[in-house]
Formats: sequence, structure tokens, C-alpha cells
Amino acid sequence: MTDDAKKLLAFLEANGAAILETTNPYEQARFKTVNGVCVIYKNSKGAWSFSNDHARDAFFAFRDGKKWSGTKRHQRVMRKKIEDSLIERDGKICCYCGGDFSEAHPPTLEHFLSISHGGNNHFSNLALCHEECNLKAGDLPVIEKMNLKLKPPTKKE
Ligand SMILES: [Zn+2]
Repeated sequence: MTDDAKKLLAFLEANGAAILETTNPYEQARFKTVNGVCVIYKNSKGAWSFSNDHARDAFFAFRDGKKWSGTKRHQRVMRKKIEDSLIERDGKICCYCGGDFSEAHPPTLEHFLSISHGGNNHFSNLALCHEECNLKAGDLPVIEKMNLKLKPPTKKE
């Protein structure tokens, strides 16, 4: 194993990845993160390649000395997908006040039944709302959140 590969493995392990046995000489690192199994390859010509985006991210973070975590889900992509689906379902409005979203009042993700109370990330439990409306709803019981939802729209400046 090259020094580079050793350093790469040390980096991955230090940041929460579980190191797995490589299965052929081209695999520089095979590891598992919360996002699944990732493999970083280097071919006989010295070119790097990656089994998926997570593997690529990990490698470039290592090479560029950036932060990386094997225990953090890829939220950016997920979040965008969830947001798009919710907008498709509910329209581009706050689930509580019915107001529009804007730069100053961007949508936040609301869990009707909060994760801490056993809620999940299914669409039926999710909606978009303003941050201030989200905070207002806070950890209220679901039934009280539904009452909040019935309030007429307020205009936001
Ligand atoms: Zn709102």
C-alpha cells in the first residue's frame, strides 16, 4: 500500500468511515459511511476514479484538506428533493400562515410529529413553512399545530 493510500485510510477512519477490505489491487480505499459503501480506485496509469459521489467527495476533501464526515447524511441533495416534492404537493406556501416564501422568509422543513416524539421523514409528516412559523409551532402537539394551520394568512413584509 502506498503512503498516499495509508493517509487516505487514516483520514477516512478519523472522520467516521468504517474501513473495509479491498477486493482488488486498484481499490485504494473501500469504506462504509452513513451514505453506503464507497470505493476509491486508482488505475495502473495512476488515474483516480470513484464508485459514487460520496467516494468522490471524500477523496477531494482529503486531497484539499477540507472537512468531511462519514457519519453525516448527504442533506443538501435530499433536502432539495424533499422540498421540491412538498411544493408540488402543497404549493409554494407556508403550511401554517399560508404566506409566500421569499429570500427573507425562506421555507424550512416542518415535522408535524417531531423526530424527538417518534416522528419520521415520510412525506405525510412533512410540510414547508416559514422559520418563524416553524419556531412558533415548535414542539406543540400535532393537534395544536393543526389549529395553528387554520389561522388566516398573514402578510409578511
Ligand atoms: Zn408562515
